[in-house]
Amino acid sequence: MLVCLTTQSLKDALLDVRKSHSIGFVPTMGALHEGHLSLIKEAQQANDIAVVSIFVNPTQFDNKEDLKKYPRTLERDTKLLEQVNCDFVFAPSANDIYENNIHSTKFTFGGLEHAMEGKFREGHFDGVGTIVKRLFEIVEPTNAYFGEKDFQQLQIIKKLVTTYNIPIKIVGCKIHREKDGLAMSSRNARLSTKHREVAPFIYKTLREAKLKFEKQSALKVDQWVHEQFRQHPYLELEYFEIANAQTLKTISRKRKGNKYRGFIAAFAGKIRLIDNIALN
Ligand code: AMP
Repeated sequence: MLVCLTTQSLKDALLDVRKSHSIGFVPTMGALHEGHLSLIKEAQQANDIAVVSIFVNPTQFDNKEDLKKYPRTLERDTKLLEQVNCDFVFAPSANDIYENNIHSTKFTFGGLEHAMEGKFREGHFDGVGTIVKRLFEIVEPTNAYFGEKDFQQLQIIKKLVTTYNIPIKIVGCKIHREKDGLAMSSRNARLSTKHREVAPFIYKTLREAKLKFEKQSALKVDQWVHEQFRQHPYLELEYFEIANAQTLKTISRKRKGNKYRGFIAAFAGKIRLIDNIALN
């Protein structure tokens, strides 16, 4: 496994490789867990080589404290990647990848950027669009893998490649969960014991909402979820949305033939957790 700490060294290393090998790419912010590893496994199964990037992208954080406290565990991560036979790790510095100009470009993603995370995390998807586009230009993968854990991000990246005619196939991967249902996330490591204990409530509520959605109106399910969180002593709901899985537009009424998902963002103390589920 080769660890490249600069853009130039990765480009040099991939120059010959790409002539005769398909490249599967998994962008991450590190503090790797089983969720990340499941994406890497998919990349390895469908490509000749796997490239994993580890970069905590400053321009996608709307909250300075979250950026400062984001877990950075490069040594442990590279050991883990070595164990799972990853081929290339790309872990650049911010100045290197941003060419000493650390700021994001403004993007529009056909309205996908205004919903949910876009509404509550100002500038987040400009940061995501900027870094992913840059990573794609550097790595030039055949296929790139993104988790449904960040479902809105996945849809936005699909839009990014069609908008800019980037010849990369975007593959969405299932959400990997702890045994108690909590969606795996690098931020889980920062939960207090109490908050870790109660955090599976988020997925439990999503599952129950899915069952209710079979028989009840979207409005009723929406009200029910809000009520569950109002009564919860440790978790604070930021949003629950039932949205069209394609457009991500919030719905007030179900229509036949459409796919819907339920999305939650909630605070467990200072830690913001997100999760989502297919409702039909
Ligand atoms: P992150 O390091 O949190 O930016 O995540 C890097 C990639 O891993 C993104 O495409 C995420 O959607 C994906 N990912 C993170 N957590 C999970 C999970 N629990 N299951 C599946 N994919 C995940």
